[in-house]
Amino acid sequence: MSSIAKRLETVRQRIRSAEAAAGREPGSVTLLAVSKMQPLQALQEAIAAGQRQFGENYLQEAGDKQDALDAEPDLCWHFIGPLQSNKTKPAAQRFDWVHSVDRLKLARRLDAQRPEHLPPLNICLQVNISGEDSKAGLTPEQTIELAPAMAEFTRLRLRGLMAIPAPCDDPDEQRKPFRALRELQQSLCERGLSLDTLSMGMSGDLEAAIAEGSTLVRVGTDVFGPRPAPDHSN
Ligand SMILES: *Cc1c(COP(=O)(O)O)cnc(C)c1O
Repeated sequence: MSSIAKRLETVRQRIRSAEAAAGREPGSVTLLAVSKMQPLQALQEAIAAGQRQFGENYLQEAGDKQDALDAEPDLCWHFIGPLQSNKTKPAAQRFDWVHSVDRLKLARRLDAQRPEHLPPLNICLQVNISGEDSKAGLTPEQTIELAPAMAEFTRLRLRGLMAIPAPCDDPDEQRKPFRALRELQQSLCERGLSLDTLSMGMSGDLEAAIAEGSTLVRVGTDVFGPRPAPDHSN
């Protein structure tokens, strides 16, 4: 087995244990392999080990990988990085999901640019759940205010919420922002939206996220190993 296949198996095991510990159905949490800055070969190894869902942060880099992996069946591409309003086109054309929608203008452009022959683009609203000044994302109040409009676009399908809480080592503390995101999702559902996705949890905190209801964990380092140094400008 390649080291990526081994790492993947370990992460899958962690997810299964966390699902069981939380009394959740086996398979209720999707593993998104975050392959940003990883070479094509790393994705190929993950694919050989059965992985199909990939998360990318940079459009140019992702496009190169998507071209190279065009013949692979059933891959699902998630855009999870910050998105500039003038660069939405490749996100709308080449991805199945965008997790980082945090303003109406982005949603409007993605909706307008989503090709007719593709199903609606799945989107999550990114929420700045720890209230950090430096972090991207909507405040919880803005999320409540904007979500109904985000759900109206015909070429988009609002699936849920995404957050990247401040890193923290204490498992009990890790759960707090995840719980807050789940409660925010619940209050949106009570207002009539139908949301089925909580995109939360990464290498260091996926157990806490699953305990609080995550349906999709985004794991980079623990699947692929440390990322090579960044060399991106796009
Ligand atoms: C890089 C990244 C991840 C993966 O982080 P790891 O700590 O390597 O698991 C998850 N989500 C987002 C939005 C990221 O940018």
